[in-house]
Amino acid sequence: MFGQKLQQFFYGRNGPDQFGFFMMLLIIPFALINNVICNIIAWLLLLFTIFRIVSKNVSQRRKENIAFLKIWNKIKKPFQTAKERYNERKFYKIFRCPKCRQKLRVPRYKGTVKVRCSKCGDVFVRKT
Ligand SMILES: [Zn+2]
Repeated sequence: MFGQKLQQFFYGRNGPDQFGFFMMLLIIPFALINNVICNIIAWLLLLFTIFRIVSKNVSQRRKENIAFLKIWNKIKKPFQTAKERYNERKFYKIFRCPKCRQKLRVPRYKGTVKVRCSKCGDVFVRKT
């Protein structure tokens, strides 16, 4: 019964989205800091988060979420690239072109190889 009522309540409402979850995480440090201004910020964030969850203006909330995801993906990208590099370190070695500083990925354990830069065409010899 309760689940049904909850479902009815959320029908046509935005509900929690990625932006909402991010805001909820953001509230925690503000709420924990023993400072009036930080606590006010925490309350405002909480009210804004609740407002977004129960909001019926779903198209506007979706726009906000998309805008958030755009920024979030930009923040996330360098970490993701670093993680991918770390995961593939067994199979590839990264060299920098001595001429243009372009990063080049070369398969490992191929002995001494000639590497041709994909950007400037410079050729240099490296041990893999
Ligand atoms: Zn180059």
